[in-house]
Amino acid sequence: MKKILLALAALILLAFSYYFFSDEDAADSQRAREEIISYETEVDGPDECSSYEAYDAEFGVCYFECASEQECEEMQNDIDDELATWADEAEGDSEPIHEDPEADIEAVASYAVTAGEKIALVSGNDATEYQTVWDEIATLSPNATSDAYIETYEVYDDSDSDTLAFVDDPDQNGKWRIAINLAGRRESTLREQKATLIHELAHIITLNTSQVSSNYVSCSTYELDEGCANQNSYLQAFYGTYWNGVQPPAEFVESTFVTEYAASDPVEDLAETFTFFVLEKDRENLGTTVKDQKIKLLYDYPDLVQVRKEMRNTLSRDVIRARKLGK
Ligand SMILES: [Zn+2]
Repeated sequence: MKKILLALAALILLAFSYYFFSDEDAADSQRAREEIISYETEVDGPDECSSYEAYDAEFGVCYFECASEQECEEMQNDIDDELATWADEAEGDSEPIHEDPEADIEAVASYAVTAGEKIALVSGNDATEYQTVWDEIATLSPNATSDAYIETYEVYDDSDSDTLAFVDDPDQNGKWRIAINLAGRRESTLREQKATLIHELAHIITLNTSQVSSNYVSCSTYELDEGCANQNSYLQAFYGTYWNGVQPPAEFVESTFVTEYAASDPVEDLAETFTFFVLEKDRENLGTTVKDQKIKLLYDYPDLVQVRKEMRNTLSRDVIRARKLGK
């Protein structure tokens, strides 16, 4: 255990020194190093570790480290392939992510989200499963996004509803609610569960008050329920390039939209495209279709590239663990 922590500390130190002193070549080799996966997850026993992980009895954790840079690289390629498969499976998907805040269903629990991605029960009953799903959301969500914009986490458990998840800003105060219907989630594959969460978080990342102004009389930019897209927002760039003059819903064309749901309107197109941006392999693997151009547009934003990287780190761990857990 100590060895891993030491190795990790050394890696962080190395990362810092490269960050401050590197030229471009060094930065390239550093990029490869940063992709070394090294993490630990608290578990109840060794059975919960995947075949890629070792168990540390003292701390009760499964951990993963590469024996060599080559092993890490192979591992990373493996994970990249798997995430790309998720995108392939979702491609052209005709099954919409139902998102209906007006759906006539009752929340079984509602939590206030506080600083540091903590939750406190406000109404309903607590359950381990609710906490587990929140942990999953919090791990996937950039900390800055959760802290600045997420105010409520709501849990539904209604198998009659086709609502899977939704986000909204019910008080129009710039603070969002994220809601999950566990009944729908339990029937979803791991890939569907993750894609749904990425999609919902994409809404919060692209529609929050740094992106959209709710204080307006009329919009000179794209107008949506939340207000006017800011001139320099992701949504305005996306709308201006791909939706100008198109009346939503657009006709679904396979080469233009990543899924059928993406053709609904610019907001859904952006959230679906963002999901593929996270799951698909790097920019150089993208083609020349309009839907690939849309993904490339997101690479123009360093902050989104950073979010992509962090989300992929989290998903890597999920992929590794799912292999053992058979999900
Ligand atoms: Zn959506």
